[in-house]
Amino acid sequence: MKDETGKGIQVSATWMRPAIERVACRIMEAADELTALDSAIGDGDHGHNMKRGWQAALDQLDELAGLPPQEALQKLGMTMVGKVGGASGPLYGTLFLQAGKAWDGTLSLGAVAAAVEAGVAGVKKRGKSEAGEKTMLDVWCPVIEALRSAEGAGDATRRTRVAADAGLAATRDMKATKGRAAYLGERSVGHLDPGARSSALLVGALCDLIDEEAHA
Ligand code: ADP
Ligand code: MG
Repeated sequence: MKDETGKGIQVSATWMRPAIERVACRIMEAADELTALDSAIGDGDHGHNMKRGWQAALDQLDELAGLPPQEALQKLGMTMVGKVGGASGPLYGTLFLQAGKAWDGTLSLGAVAAAVEAGVAGVKKRGKSEAGEKTMLDVWCPVIEALRSAEGAGDATRRTRVAADAGLAATRDMKATKGRAAYLGERSVGHLDPGARSSALLVGALCDLIDEEAHA
């Protein structure tokens, strides 16, 4: 993110470690909730899948933290593909892999937005999906808009959090047309999408960390 003085904040290896720890912790704490959401409209494994993936990330923490951040993100993507399973493993894997490839490793707003955009384009291609289908994309697409329209780091985290939470909330009234939930058709309406929930948790955890660093 660009800080309000216009100086770009560099991501360093020392930033990658707390980022992974924070997200992993948030996801693991919410594993039962993710499973409950997936039990309502899927097969009830999303919490377990996410837990397995983020535990694998924690197991590789020293290695990941030692890499340039864009390489760490790509490696994290490979880990997600290998460990998470289900639909979400390859999709989160693609998100991180493509974002890492497109990222210059800095936290300038433009660089972060471009990286997220590339990752989300990868998810759309792999999932043959778009926003509005009751998936994780209903969080990630508004997040891109928020990053693109933000002015400064404080504004970016505020807008991004709001966009992610609103995107998640919007999945409740959507009918799923992709993934397992699509089998339920109209009966998928009235439930939050589990992948949108895990995505909003991830986004929220990173925003919290960025805000704390800015005020440290
Ligand atoms: P599975 O559906 O194989 O059991 P998970 O339960 O781990 O895998 O993940 C389900 C989540 O994956 C959904 O809640 C949704 O957000 C996301 N998802 C599934 N299919 C797609 C798709 N085609 N495009 C984008 N996201 C998808
Ligand atoms: Mg599932």
